[in-house]
Amino acid sequence: NTFAEIDLGEAMNQNIRRCKYVKPTPVQRHAIPILLAGRDLMACAQTGSGKTAAFCFPIISGIMREQYVSRPRGGRNAYPLALILSPTRELSCQIHDEARKFSYQTGVKVVVAYGGAPINQQLRELERGVDILVATPGRLVDLLERARVSLQMIRYLALDEADRMLDMGFEPQIRKIVEQMDMPPCGMRQTMLFSATFPKEIQRLASDFLSNYIFLAV
Ligand code: AMP
Repeated sequence: NTFAEIDLGEAMNQNIRRCKYVKPTPVQRHAIPILLAGRDLMACAQTGSGKTAAFCFPIISGIMREQYVSRPRGGRNAYPLALILSPTRELSCQIHDEARKFSYQTGVKVVVAYGGAPINQQLRELERGVDILVATPGRLVDLLERARVSLQMIRYLALDEADRMLDMGFEPQIRKIVEQMDMPPCGMRQTMLFSATFPKEIQRLASDFLSNYIFLAV
Protein backbone atom coordinates (compact mmCIF):
# COMPACT_ATOMS: atom_id res chain seq x y z
CA ASN A 1 0.00 0.00 0.00
CA THR A 2 3.01 2.29 -0.33
CA PHE A 3 5.19 3.10 -3.32
CA ALA A 4 8.27 1.77 -1.51
CA GLU A 5 6.67 -1.72 -1.57
CA ILE A 6 6.47 -1.53 -5.36
CA ASP A 7 10.13 -1.73 -6.25
CA LEU A 8 10.71 1.19 -8.62
CA GLY A 9 14.25 1.95 -7.52
CA GLU A 10 15.68 4.73 -5.37
CA ALA A 11 15.76 7.52 -7.97
CA MET A 12 12.09 7.09 -8.77
CA ASN A 13 11.11 6.69 -5.13
CA GLN A 14 12.75 10.02 -4.47
CA ASN A 15 10.83 11.63 -7.35
CA ILE A 16 7.58 10.16 -6.07
CA ARG A 17 8.29 11.69 -2.66
CA ARG A 18 9.06 15.02 -4.35
CA CYS A 19 5.64 14.84 -6.03
CA LYS A 20 4.17 14.29 -2.55
CA TYR A 21 2.48 11.07 -3.58
CA VAL A 22 2.13 9.05 -0.40
CA LYS A 23 -0.20 6.21 -1.34
CA PRO A 24 -0.80 4.67 -4.77
CA THR A 25 -4.30 5.28 -6.17
CA PRO A 26 -6.35 2.12 -7.00
CA VAL A 27 -5.35 2.12 -10.68
CA GLN A 28 -1.70 2.55 -9.70
CA ARG A 29 -1.87 -0.18 -7.05
CA HIS A 30 -3.20 -2.68 -9.58
CA ALA A 31 -1.65 -1.59 -12.87
CA ILE A 32 1.96 -1.00 -11.80
CA PRO A 33 2.71 -4.59 -10.66
CA ILE A 34 1.03 -5.99 -13.81
CA LEU A 35 3.14 -3.73 -16.01
CA LEU A 36 6.36 -4.36 -14.08
CA ALA A 37 5.72 -8.07 -14.67
CA GLY A 38 5.80 -7.31 -18.40
CA ARG A 39 2.14 -8.00 -19.20
CA ASP A 40 0.00 -6.09 -21.68
CA LEU A 41 -2.84 -4.20 -20.04
CA MET A 42 -6.28 -2.88 -20.94
CA ALA A 43 -7.35 -0.49 -18.19
CA CYS A 44 -10.66 1.33 -17.81
CA ALA A 45 -9.77 4.42 -15.80
CA GLN A 46 -11.10 7.96 -15.64
CA THR A 47 -9.26 11.24 -15.73
CA GLY A 48 -8.12 12.06 -12.20
CA SER A 49 -7.58 8.40 -11.27
CA GLY A 50 -3.81 8.74 -11.38
CA LYS A 51 -3.47 6.79 -14.63
CA THR A 52 -0.59 8.93 -15.92
CA ALA A 53 1.69 7.72 -13.14
CA ALA A 54 0.29 4.20 -13.54
CA PHE A 55 1.78 3.91 -17.02
CA CYS A 56 4.74 6.30 -16.61
CA PHE A 57 6.33 4.60 -13.59
CA PRO A 58 6.76 1.16 -15.21
CA ILE A 59 7.89 2.73 -18.49
CA ILE A 60 10.56 4.89 -16.81
CA SER A 61 11.76 2.06 -14.60
CA GLY A 62 11.92 -0.28 -17.62
CA ILE A 63 13.89 2.23 -19.66
CA MET A 64 16.35 2.76 -16.82
CA ARG A 65 17.17 -0.93 -17.18
CA GLU A 66 17.40 -0.76 -21.00
CA GLN A 67 19.31 2.44 -21.53
CA TYR A 68 22.55 0.64 -22.27
CA VAL A 69 20.94 -0.70 -25.47
CA SER A 70 22.93 0.72 -28.34
CA ARG A 71 20.89 3.00 -30.58
CA PRO A 72 20.94 6.49 -32.07
CA ARG A 73 18.79 8.18 -29.45
CA GLY A 74 18.53 11.43 -31.38
CA GLY A 75 19.96 12.85 -34.57
CA ARG A 76 18.07 13.39 -37.81
CA ASN A 77 16.04 10.27 -37.16
CA ALA A 78 15.27 9.76 -33.47
CA TYR A 79 14.76 6.31 -31.93
CA PRO A 80 12.58 6.50 -28.80
CA LEU A 81 12.16 3.41 -26.59
CA ALA A 82 8.67 4.35 -25.47
CA LEU A 83 5.71 6.00 -27.15
CA ILE A 84 2.75 7.54 -25.34
CA LEU A 85 -0.12 8.51 -27.64
CA SER A 86 -2.71 10.97 -26.40
CA PRO A 87 -5.61 12.78 -28.11
CA THR A 88 -4.81 16.46 -27.54
CA ARG A 89 -2.04 18.99 -27.16
CA GLU A 90 -3.22 19.78 -23.62
CA LEU A 91 -3.18 16.18 -22.47
CA SER A 92 0.16 15.51 -24.19
CA CYS A 93 1.72 18.49 -22.43
CA GLN A 94 0.32 17.35 -19.08
CA ILE A 95 1.74 13.86 -19.56
CA HIS A 96 5.07 15.36 -20.63
CA ASP A 97 5.23 17.56 -17.52
CA GLU A 98 4.40 14.68 -15.21
CA ALA A 99 6.75 12.23 -16.93
CA ARG A 100 9.58 14.75 -16.62
CA LYS A 101 9.00 15.06 -12.88
CA PHE A 102 8.88 11.29 -12.47
CA SER A 103 12.11 10.81 -14.47
CA TYR A 104 14.10 13.64 -12.85
CA GLN A 105 17.77 12.63 -12.46
CA THR A 106 17.20 9.19 -13.96
CA GLY A 107 18.81 10.03 -17.30
CA VAL A 108 15.54 9.22 -19.08
CA LYS A 109 14.65 11.93 -21.59
CA VAL A 110 11.03 12.80 -22.39
CA VAL A 111 10.00 14.81 -25.48
CA VAL A 112 6.53 15.96 -26.55
CA ALA A 113 5.23 16.48 -30.11
CA TYR A 114 1.74 17.74 -30.92
CA GLY A 115 -0.09 19.23 -33.87
CA GLY A 116 -1.32 22.78 -34.29
CA ALA A 117 2.09 24.20 -33.43
CA PRO A 118 5.23 24.81 -35.52
CA ILE A 119 7.18 21.59 -36.01
CA ASN A 120 10.70 23.05 -35.98
CA GLN A 121 11.10 23.41 -32.24
CA GLN A 122 9.84 19.83 -31.82
CA LEU A 123 12.32 18.59 -34.44
CA ARG A 124 15.19 20.28 -32.60
CA GLU A 125 14.14 18.64 -29.34
CA LEU A 126 13.97 15.22 -31.00
CA GLU A 127 17.42 15.68 -32.52
CA ARG A 128 18.85 16.18 -29.05
CA GLY A 129 17.75 12.71 -28.04
CA VAL A 130 14.58 11.04 -26.80
CA ASP A 131 13.75 7.98 -24.71
CA ILE A 132 10.03 8.58 -24.18
CA LEU A 133 8.04 10.34 -26.89
CA VAL A 134 4.64 11.75 -25.94
CA ALA A 135 2.70 12.57 -29.11
CA THR A 136 -0.66 13.21 -30.70
CA PRO A 137 -1.35 10.74 -33.54
CA GLY A 138 -1.50 13.23 -36.42
CA ARG A 139 1.78 14.95 -35.58
CA LEU A 140 3.52 11.61 -35.09
CA VAL A 141 2.41 10.42 -38.57
CA ASP A 142 3.90 13.64 -39.94
CA LEU A 143 7.20 12.96 -38.15
CA LEU A 144 7.24 9.37 -39.43
CA GLU A 145 6.60 10.52 -43.00
CA ARG A 146 9.47 12.99 -42.73
CA ALA A 147 11.64 10.15 -41.37
CA ARG A 148 12.46 12.17 -38.28
CA VAL A 149 11.26 9.51 -35.85
CA SER A 150 11.71 5.75 -36.09
CA LEU A 151 9.56 3.32 -34.11
CA GLN A 152 11.99 0.43 -34.60
CA MET A 153 13.26 0.51 -31.03
CA ILE A 154 9.91 0.96 -29.27
CA ARG A 155 9.65 -1.34 -26.24
CA TYR A 156 6.66 0.35 -24.55
CA LEU A 157 3.51 1.69 -26.15
CA ALA A 158 0.82 3.45 -24.10
CA LEU A 159 -2.44 4.71 -25.59
CA ASP A 160 -4.06 7.19 -23.23
CA GLU A 161 -7.74 8.16 -23.44
CA ALA A 162 -8.13 5.77 -26.35
CA ASP A 163 -11.90 6.34 -26.54
CA ARG A 164 -11.34 10.07 -27.00
CA MET A 165 -8.75 9.44 -29.71
CA LEU A 166 -11.30 7.34 -31.60
CA ASP A 167 -14.03 9.98 -31.09
CA MET A 168 -11.65 12.51 -32.63
CA GLY A 169 -11.21 10.32 -35.70
CA PHE A 170 -7.61 9.23 -35.03
CA GLU A 171 -8.16 5.51 -35.65
CA PRO A 172 -6.48 5.47 -39.12
CA GLN A 173 -3.42 7.31 -37.79
CA ILE A 174 -3.20 5.06 -34.74
CA ARG A 175 -3.42 1.93 -36.88
CA LYS A 176 -0.73 3.26 -39.21
CA ILE A 177 1.55 3.95 -36.23
CA VAL A 178 1.02 0.54 -34.63
CA GLU A 179 1.47 -1.23 -38.00
CA GLN A 180 4.98 0.23 -38.22
CA MET A 181 5.81 -1.20 -34.82
CA ASP A 182 4.58 -4.64 -35.86
CA MET A 183 7.00 -4.86 -38.80
CA PRO A 184 10.52 -6.26 -38.62
CA PRO A 185 13.12 -5.28 -37.49
CA CYS A 186 10.99 -4.04 -34.59
CA GLY A 187 11.39 -6.12 -31.46
CA MET A 188 8.96 -7.10 -28.74
CA ARG A 189 6.91 -4.39 -27.14
CA GLN A 190 4.67 -4.09 -24.13
CA THR A 191 1.38 -2.36 -24.85
CA MET A 192 -1.00 -0.61 -22.47
CA LEU A 193 -4.37 0.77 -23.43
CA PHE A 194 -6.20 3.24 -21.19
CA SER A 195 -9.78 4.28 -21.82
CA ALA A 196 -12.60 5.74 -19.75
CA THR A 197 -15.15 3.56 -21.56
CA PHE A 198 -14.98 0.11 -23.11
CA PRO A 199 -17.26 0.09 -26.20
CA LYS A 200 -16.94 -2.33 -29.15
CA GLU A 201 -14.41 -0.13 -30.95
CA ILE A 202 -12.05 -0.12 -27.97
CA GLN A 203 -12.49 -3.88 -27.51
CA ARG A 204 -11.42 -4.27 -31.13
CA LEU A 205 -8.33 -2.11 -30.62
CA ALA A 206 -7.46 -4.14 -27.55
CA SER A 207 -7.68 -7.43 -29.41
CA ASP A 208 -5.71 -6.02 -32.36
CA PHE A 209 -2.91 -4.31 -30.40
CA LEU A 210 -2.51 -6.26 -27.17
CA SER A 211 -1.30 -9.79 -26.67
CA ASN A 212 -2.52 -12.01 -23.87
CA TYR A 213 -3.58 -8.95 -21.92
CA ILE A 214 -4.93 -8.37 -18.45
CA PHE A 215 -8.19 -6.42 -18.16
CA LEU A 216 -8.46 -3.94 -15.30
CA ALA A 217 -11.48 -1.84 -14.37
CA VAL A 218 -11.21 0.54 -11.43
P1 AMP B 1 -4.26 11.67 -13.69
O1 AMP B 1 -5.46 10.82 -13.53
O2 AMP B 1 -3.04 10.88 -14.06
O3 AMP B 1 -4.48 12.83 -14.59
O4 AMP B 1 -3.88 12.28 -12.23
C1 AMP B 1 -4.74 13.17 -11.55
C2 AMP B 1 -4.00 13.99 -10.50
O5 AMP B 1 -3.69 13.21 -9.35
C3 AMP B 1 -2.69 14.58 -10.96
O6 AMP B 1 -2.62 15.93 -10.54
C4 AMP B 1 -1.63 13.74 -10.27
O7 AMP B 1 -0.45 14.47 -10.04
C5 AMP B 1 -2.31 13.34 -8.99
N1 AMP B 1 -1.87 12.03 -8.46
C6 AMP B 1 -1.61 10.91 -9.18
N2 AMP B 1 -1.25 9.90 -8.39
C7 AMP B 1 -1.27 10.34 -7.12
C8 AMP B 1 -0.98 9.75 -5.84
N3 AMP B 1 -0.63 8.48 -5.73
N4 AMP B 1 -1.13 10.52 -4.74
C9 AMP B 1 -1.50 11.82 -4.87
N5 AMP B 1 -1.78 12.45 -6.02
C10 AMP B 1 -1.67 11.72 -7.15
